[in-house]
Amino acid sequence: MAPIAGICELGEGCGEPRRKGGYHSTVKKQLASLLLCALLLPRAFADGLPDLGDVGSAELSPQAERRIGEQAMGEIRWREAAYLDDVEVEGYLNSLGQRLVAAAPASGVDFSFFAVSDPTLNAFALPGGFIGVHTGLVLAASTESELASVLGHEIAHVTQRHIARMIGNQGRTGMVMLASMIVAILAAGSSPDAAEAAIATGQATAMQSQLAYTRDFEREADRNGLMTLQAAGFDVRGMPAFFERLQRNSRLYENNAPAYLRTHPLTTDRITDMENRVQGLGYRQVPDSLEFRLVQAKLLALQGSAAEAVRGLEARLKGKPDDPVLRYGLTRALLRMGQLEQARASMTLLARNPPASAMVEALEAELLAAGGDHAAAAAHYRDAIKRYPLSRPLAYGLADELIAAGRPAEAADMLRKDIVSAPDDYRRWGLLAKAELARGSRAGRHRAQAEVYRLQGSLPAAVEQLELAQRAGDADFYTMSAIDARLRELRTRLRQEREAR
Ligand SMILES: [Zn+2]
Repeated sequence: MAPIAGICELGEGCGEPRRKGGYHSTVKKQLASLLLCALLLPRAFADGLPDLGDVGSAELSPQAERRIGEQAMGEIRWREAAYLDDVEVEGYLNSLGQRLVAAAPASGVDFSFFAVSDPTLNAFALPGGFIGVHTGLVLAASTESELASVLGHEIAHVTQRHIARMIGNQGRTGMVMLASMIVAILAAGSSPDAAEAAIATGQATAMQSQLAYTRDFEREADRNGLMTLQAAGFDVRGMPAFFERLQRNSRLYENNAPAYLRTHPLTTDRITDMENRVQGLGYRQVPDSLEFRLVQAKLLALQGSAAEAVRGLEARLKGKPDDPVLRYGLTRALLRMGQLEQARASMTLLARNPPASAMVEALEAELLAAGGDHAAAAAHYRDAIKRYPLSRPLAYGLADELIAAGRPAEAADMLRKDIVSAPDDYRRWGLLAKAELARGSRAGRHRAQAEVYRLQGSLPAAVEQLELAQRAGDADFYTMSAIDARLRELRTRLRQEREAR
């Protein structure tokens, strides 16, 4: 969404406007716009789309691109304050995103969506199918179809291999450079100087020369995104409507906009093109999912200070006192503020007419936990899991509360079973390490920690943990053989990775 990186003034939910002038913000915006929208469908799918060539894809395999994306994602997940580590919000973005991916032409890319705490209206794609969505954008969407339209656009950047095509013959180096710059931009959220140091090396200038293509890429992503939006069953009118509002929003700072934004705006041409296509498609009314509304309410409860969030939600609730979604948001904000009594009273009101959602169940359990009753919280999670057996947040919550209630062995057993079907779930491995530590199993703890490091992209640290697990001396024969086998595997992988460099 390059051209719409800007200040957020769409309603009170959007937080504070960004600084408008100044070199820092200009550099940041410029890079943001330069990179963020850089981003397939088989050629056969294209109906009159411009042929942009396929430069670069031969240079870099999708696996190599994925690896670079994973590394950048590791940086973001573990080191960036801007990464929103919230399993419910991330889970929602992934379910919405996967619904769109399933409707897009097959690309073989393994998509992954995540949220970035940033009030600006933006979304971006990293190499390898990782798509970041700013919380400001989620809050600015007035319908779920609107939010879906932006995700559809980003997915199209990936399926069309726009990143690889933009990088051109720079291959791996260009891709790594691009990924590092995206990470630097996210870091800039907290420290503009750090981002500048990372990017003021002339690379940005080099990148800019390739941006002439971006306008075509944008149009291609709009058209493909629109088809995906329709195929996934969303209201296609959401796309031109939202993009138009975003355009109005970006005009607010046009005079300060860097050259790229002035020459590549979210143009009236693009919006007219979308409107024309939408007319040919026919439309339908599509109700928002409950999760979409609850996620918006949760983001409202999380933004600004806790007191501000409470005041904001109270004000909204005044207009709609019976709105369960706003009530959910207020309860969450009160809990965040530590106003337990008020949060409980608010939960009681919510419980009169509770929306059927795992998110509401989790909030109830969190309230019990905040009051110190971990056994009751665990029992609530366990009960809720019967109704929502696929909910990861509930499973994590249960594990955590079992540990807190002094039953880590139970938590460890459950986590080990769940991990069989989700071996790359770093949150479960992290919880397992915590459970093993709590029940005094050194080998088990290091074994689990090794997988956390592996998933953070740090194989040397993972190998070290497995060596510690081997030496811990408290593993049974079966566990010991598993540790040995895993250590051999990861050592081989580490060697291969070093040779590849
Ligand atoms: Zn774009």
